[in-house]
Amino acid sequence: MTFPERPHPSPNFSASPAHERLGVCFHHSVMDFDSTIAHMLRPESQVSYHVLIAPDGTRARLVADEHVAWHAGVSSFQGRERCNDFLLGVSFAGDTRATPLTEAQIASALDWLALRWLRHGWTPAVMTDHRQVSPGRKDDLAPAEWTRLLSAISERFPVVV
Ligand SMILES: [Zn+2]
Repeated sequence: MTFPERPHPSPNFSASPAHERLGVCFHHSVMDFDSTIAHMLRPESQVSYHVLIAPDGTRARLVADEHVAWHAGVSSFQGRERCNDFLLGVSFAGDTRATPLTEAQIASALDWLALRWLRHGWTPAVMTDHRQVSPGRKDDLAPAEWTRLLSAISERFPVVV
């Protein structure tokens, strides 16, 4: 199954042609798909993701992979601060603490990852979420939904030993 992906270029990014893409930080946006896009197109919001995924799996491409999106704020992963500098930001529209991810959202995220997985040498170990990189400050994703997502990722992209 493939899902449509449409560009909605956000002004909220740092141009960084050599943007390191060590892995991915997943989020939920709390707001619905259209409201989230509108929010990220406003310069004064100062926030963005690389991609946002609707409940039906449709993706909005907000910031090019080559640029730094402003998604994680104060954060650290594997002992490094400022996760925006080295993690791509992928968000699910909605609130995973209130409503589970849809199957289409997970499938769409896997498709998005598949286009990049080998090129960047990603493994499940470099997948994380906002709750884990900004502990105590952020609560996305809901822990059970993170576990569900990571299981789906690990199943789709087995680590070859
Ligand atoms: Zn977040």
